[in-house]
Amino acid sequence: MQTQILERMESEVRTYSRSFPTVFTHAKGARLTDEEGREYIDFLAGAGTLNYGHNHPKLQQALVDYITSDGLVHGLDMWSEARRSYLETLEEVILKPRGLDYKVHLTGPTGTNAVEAAIRLARVAKGRPNIVTFTNGFHGVTMGALATTGNRKFREATGGIPTQGASFMPFDGYMGDGVDTLDYFEKLLGDKSGGLDTPAGVIVETVQGEGGINPAGLDWLKRLEGICRAHDILLIVDDIQAGCGRTGKFFSFEHAGIVPDIVTNSKSLSAYGMPFAHVLMRPELDKWKPGQYNGTFRGFNMAFVTATAAFKHFWQDDKLERDVQRKGRIVEERFAKIAAWMTEQGYPSSERGRGLMRGIDVGDGEIADKVTAKAFENGLVIETAGQSGQVIKCLCPLVISDEDLLEGLDILERSAHEALS
Ligand SMILES: *Cc1c(COP(=O)(O)O)cnc(C)c1O
Repeated sequence: MQTQILERMESEVRTYSRSFPTVFTHAKGARLTDEEGREYIDFLAGAGTLNYGHNHPKLQQALVDYITSDGLVHGLDMWSEARRSYLETLEEVILKPRGLDYKVHLTGPTGTNAVEAAIRLARVAKGRPNIVTFTNGFHGVTMGALATTGNRKFREATGGIPTQGASFMPFDGYMGDGVDTLDYFEKLLGDKSGGLDTPAGVIVETVQGEGGINPAGLDWLKRLEGICRAHDILLIVDDIQAGCGRTGKFFSFEHAGIVPDIVTNSKSLSAYGMPFAHVLMRPELDKWKPGQYNGTFRGFNMAFVTATAAFKHFWQDDKLERDVQRKGRIVEERFAKIAAWMTEQGYPSSERGRGLMRGIDVGDGEIADKVTAKAFENGLVIETAGQSGQVIKCLCPLVISDEDLLEGLDILERSAHEALS
C-alpha cells in the first residue's frame, strides 16, 4: 500500500485517515473496500452523510442519467430544471405531509455555510446580535458557527481571535439527573441583572452528534420551544447530522412535536455524499435582500438530482422511518450488552441515542480508541465522539442490511473483548 505521498503532501490537519490508515478504492451500500481488497463495514458513513449508503443504485442511476443528458452542473443560483424539481419534491414529499411551511435558502454546500446563514438570518430578523447555544454543541468551524460550537480544540484554532455573538447554556442532562437545565436559561431571561443579552435565536441539536450522541429529552425540547415563543426568540434546530431520517423521522424534531422557526440540513441531504446544504425558514422570516448573502456554489445541481431521487424513493411512505426505528432497537440492545460487559470489566459504560444515532459512553477517550482501533483491524470502520472522544458512535447507513448490521455489531463486541480483557 502506497501512502507516502498522502503522508508527505497532505497537511497535518487531516483526521480520519489517522484512524483508518488505508487507501480505499470502492464503496457500495454499507461496505468499503481498500486497495488490498479488504472489506470493511461502515458504521461511520461519512459522519452521517451517507444515510442511504454508498452509491445507492437508484440514486446513482438518476445521477448518471443527468450527467449523460448534459444536465446543468453549475449555474450559480440560476434556475434549472433540477433546482425546480428539488423544491417541488421537498414541498410535496417532505414538508406538506408534516404540516410544515418553510421557504428555502440554498446556501453554500457545507453544514457550516448553512449554520452561518441561519444565525445571521436570526440576527437580521430580530435585530439582536446574541445567539444562545448549548454545551457540547457542534455547529461548524467558520467564525460565526464556531462561536456556537463548544469544543475547545476548534475554538483555539482561531489563533486567538475571539469568537463572538454566542452565549452558552447547559444542554439537557449537563448538570446530571434531576436538574432541568432550562430552569437556568429561563431564570436568566427573566432577570434584568442576569447578564444574558436577549438572544435573537437559540440554536440546538436535538441529538448532539460530535458532542457525544446526547439526545435532548422530548419534554426538554418542548419546553425550550415554549421559552423561545414566550420571549420572542427564534428557535433554530441544527439538523445537519440528526436530520434526513437518522433518528427515525425525517426531521429529528418531529419526535418532540415542535416546529422550529429555522432549520439547517446538510450531510445526508444530497443523499449521495455530495456537498449540499439548505436553510429552511418560516416564510415571514425571509428578510434577506437580493444577493445580500451569496456564494458561488449555492445549490449544486447534481445534488438536487440525487436529493430529489431520494425523497421520491425513500420518503413517500413511512417504511424507512419504521425500519430505522427497528434497527435502532437492535443497535440499542447490543450496545447495552457491550456497555454492561465493559462495566463488569471495570470500565463504567452506558449506551444512549435515538433511532440509528447511537453511542456507548465508555468514560475515557483512550479506552474508546482502543476498541475502535481493534474494530478497524477486524474490518469495521467506527469512530468516537464527545469532549474527550469517550463515546463510540454508530452512524451506520439507514439502509444497511440486517446481515451487515449484525456483522458490524459482532465485530464491535468481539473487538471490545479483544481490546480490554
Ligand atoms: C457536521 C455538522 C456541522 C458542520 O457541517 P460541515 O459540513 O462540516 O461544515 C454543523 N452542525 C452539525 C450538527 C454537524 O453535525
